[in-house]
Amino acid sequence: MLGRGEEAFVTLATNDIYCQGALVLGQSLRRHRLTRKLVVLITPQVFDEMIEVNLIDSADYIHLAFLKRPELGVTLTKLHCWTLTHYNKCVFLDADTLVLSNVDELFDRGEFSAAPDPGWPDCFNSGVFVFQPSLHTHKLLLQHAVEHGSFDRADQGLLNSFFRNWSTADIRKHLPFIYNLSSNTMYTYSPAFKQFGSSAKVVHFLGSTKPWNYKYNPQSGSVLEQGSAPSSQHQVANNVLPLYQSIQGREALAAPGHTLCLS
Ligand code: UDP
Ligand code: MN
Repeated sequence: MLGRGEEAFVTLATNDIYCQGALVLGQSLRRHRLTRKLVVLITPQVFDEMIEVNLIDSADYIHLAFLKRPELGVTLTKLHCWTLTHYNKCVFLDADTLVLSNVDELFDRGEFSAAPDPGWPDCFNSGVFVFQPSLHTHKLLLQHAVEHGSFDRADQGLLNSFFRNWSTADIRKHLPFIYNLSSNTMYTYSPAFKQFGSSAKVVHFLGSTKPWNYKYNPQSGSVLEQGSAPSSQHQVANNVLPLYQSIQGREALAAPGHTLCLS
């Protein structure tokens, strides 16, 4: 039986913008009885001084191959989470996610668990996933990236082609959609959204509109995306942005819990 000290929530921030997100995500996890370690992968652009730990030096040829494929840069960085071998199991969360309640039960799942992508449900969305750090897997992933690239030029395409039996092999590896509910999708199955949306545990601001791009009007209680009018497409965002921005502004909320109200 593995101890909890050997498990971690992991996120990634390669620049100042995503650092804001990582901070809010970290705070949102702490608000809900954090029982695991909290890890952020940071690239040198953010801090003046960084102590880099390079766990893989045998893979130099892979790094060279990546230099010719700069578009895969951030993808390569996300794959670094497999090098966290001092943990037995981790949950990766994109820096643009927000945790609404305790999600420790995710550690009961095995590699590779993720929720379906709202745009193509036979693929998983790579914003939230359970994985097991392993230098061997990391090497295979890098090799796969060099040999096959990524069909969406990002980590999600690469991970979906690497873990390609995800959609058929083991239903336990399908995380419920409430662990990765996209905030800016117009849900076409609205009765399901009404029925289950309020149980969301992790909201993901995937796509181009990030939570730090929204403007929220506390008086009217409505959300304005930069340069656009409020729309029903932003129903989830409308609900969670006050929370997001209060965490961002370091204002403590009275109640620790938060549920989505979708009426
Ligand atoms: N990321 C980063 N810097 C970047 C782009 C992405 O650190 O310039 C990290 C960050 O953790 C982010 C994740 O990679 O949440 C995936 O990117 P993003 O969330 O923008 O993709 P989407 O979820 O919109 O597909
Ligand atoms: Mn994301």
